[in-house]
Amino acid sequence: MAATEEAAAAEGPVLSLQGIEKQYDSGEVSVLALGGVSLDVPRGQFVAIIGASGSGKSTLMNIIGCLDRPTAGSYLLAGHDVSVLDADQRAMVRSELIGFIFQGFNLLPRTSAMENVEMPLVYLGISSEERHERAMRSLQLVGLGDRLANTPSQLSGGQQQRVAIARALVTEPEVLLADEPTGNLDSRTTDEVLAMLQWLNRERALTIVMVTHESDVARCASRIVTVKDGLILSDELVAEPRRAQAPAGAEPWRVDASGAEITARVPVESAAGGGLNWLMAFRLALRSLVRARLRASLTALGILIGIAAVVTTNALGVGAQEKMQAQMTTLGVNLLVVMPAGMRTGGVRSAQGTAVSLTDEDAEAIAREVPTVATVAATVASGAQVVAGERNVSTRVTGTTAGFFTVRSWSASLGALWTDEEVRSRAPACAIGETVRQGLFGGTDPIGSEIRVGQMPCTVVAVLARKGQSGFGQDNDDTVVMPISSFRAGITRMPNNQVNSIMVTARGPDVLRRAQDSITLLLRQRHRIRPGAEDNFGVSNLSDLTSAFNEQTAIVSALLMVVASISLLVGGIGVMNIMLVSVTERTREIGIRLAIGARGRDILAQFLIEATTLAVIGGVAGIGVGIVASLLVGRLTEFSVGFRPDIAALSMAVSGGIGVIFGFFPARSAARLDPIVALRRE
Ligand code: ADP
Ligand code: MG
Repeated sequence: MAATEEAAAAEGPVLSLQGIEKQYDSGEVSVLALGGVSLDVPRGQFVAIIGASGSGKSTLMNIIGCLDRPTAGSYLLAGHDVSVLDADQRAMVRSELIGFIFQGFNLLPRTSAMENVEMPLVYLGISSEERHERAMRSLQLVGLGDRLANTPSQLSGGQQQRVAIARALVTEPEVLLADEPTGNLDSRTTDEVLAMLQWLNRERALTIVMVTHESDVARCASRIVTVKDGLILSDELVAEPRRAQAPAGAEPWRVDASGAEITARVPVESAAGGGLNWLMAFRLALRSLVRARLRASLTALGILIGIAAVVTTNALGVGAQEKMQAQMTTLGVNLLVVMPAGMRTGGVRSAQGTAVSLTDEDAEAIAREVPTVATVAATVASGAQVVAGERNVSTRVTGTTAGFFTVRSWSASLGALWTDEEVRSRAPACAIGETVRQGLFGGTDPIGSEIRVGQMPCTVVAVLARKGQSGFGQDNDDTVVMPISSFRAGITRMPNNQVNSIMVTARGPDVLRRAQDSITLLLRQRHRIRPGAEDNFGVSNLSDLTSAFNEQTAIVSALLMVVASISLLVGGIGVMNIMLVSVTERTREIGIRLAIGARGRDILAQFLIEATTLAVIGGVAGIGVGIVASLLVGRLTEFSVGFRPDIAALSMAVSGGIGVIFGFFPARSAARLDPIVALRRE
């Protein structure tokens, strides 16, 4: 405010209306609610505006209170031209210069007197300490210093209106505007409120404009302006206003007020930029969520499920991959497996190409001619019954060379592994896995025992060290391994030089690919495959196998992610729905807030933060449920569970984002409400 303006404002009238018109255009009908009203109100006057219903009193009051704009005319409030201000600027004027009292009190329900009175100060950006102090003084001023914690429903009508007066006074306004302040009160309480207003006008030199349709009420003012059909009919000073008599004992403010000096008005500039701060908005959000807790929890459930699904999927996915890696290494390191075409990974056979196409000579050639290869083991395998005394088990029997134990990094836990000497001499020696040992011998030492594999008698020379599950759900330890020569002699009638697979160890991880390529090239030559024709064998390495597995888990994960996304979308729509309901339910609250100085963006922030808080609560709960669920699933399936903090952070961000996105539309519709329309809503 410029100094010259300030001086002019101090001298001139507080309110100066010139030719104010208000036309309502609703469709085809247009109503001229005010037809050119001119009115000057000097500082410290108590003006009553009286008139029949529909005469334009409220319309005039709304314009004076900067809740509405005139369609024509000029209006100076404390020297400022306010007829040209936009909605946010009018909100600032309301919050700094005007105090409102309404017929229906318009206190926020379920909110203490103290907090109701503090509310206008919140929108001025005043610190909570100062808010408390000023609200307390204001309530003492109206004689309610002992009712700070009471909610409106715990107060009588007269007391509620006094809380409303305290709220109007707490910002030290230039003018107090009262629209039918006694309309809802009985005659005894009417006088209580009128006496209060007269006292404020007399002792505090407060400018008051009061609308009423009762002449008895109007006669308490020092000036009566009569309105009819949107025009001023008469305007006269009252020589001797009726002195409203508060009922005996209902004037505590006279006592209280002596010690309760209200501080000087906050200069506009000193208010901390104004507006609702984040903490306050967050507290408002929490409070209204707690109030509608069942509804809020049901809404948050959608987001909870979505986030829980994301967290669980991810935790188990990480665990599954770690487990897969661990199991893969039980097969051997730097392992390459050569199989006839059609014998694909994971033991899954396709229909074509089951004919055996690999021979001992192929294995020997690989060992001899591929320099990147360290060890080679040709294997033949078959299922067979194994018998020891009374007991028998059926298991998988492999015939191979001693290189097999090297390729698969397999040592003996008991006895000594057979060697290539036994292969040459066709010795009926066998190494048995732990599972077979348990099945045939229980806990006893089997070394040197005679068993029968198929029809063939055999001596147990070693028990293989436990390896556990393979990556494909097979039990590594459910096996018998014997020299390939004995296998051919006693177990199977397969042509003598044919093998089921050739297992190869490359010299290092860096030459794995090269070894794979060399083997392919060599075998193509040996099998006389013409250029362009397909291989009749396949060379696979573990990373091929792993990626096949990963592909499958990726598909499962993707499906779960789709489910999670749908759940999040539904959750978001739920948030939007509940916020729309909330805005409708709280339209009147929004109207009150706007009337006492909230700007559109304060309302937007309040509802947006409420939506975001709701969504984030759902998200946090979802992370919790996800962790518990994956621990549970992990325990049941013996999966190791791998949590990733970045997924938790991402989940928080996603749920926050959902709150913002889906809360925006309802919050914006709340922010765009017209205060007059909102206040009229029941
Ligand atoms: P009072 O408060 O004296 O009862 P109002 O100021 O509420 O009168 O209304 C004055 C006139 O303007 C009435 O004829 C009323 O119907 C009309 N009016 C008030 N508000 C609106 C509106 N939003 N749209 C159309 N007409 C309105
Ligand atoms: Mg009215």
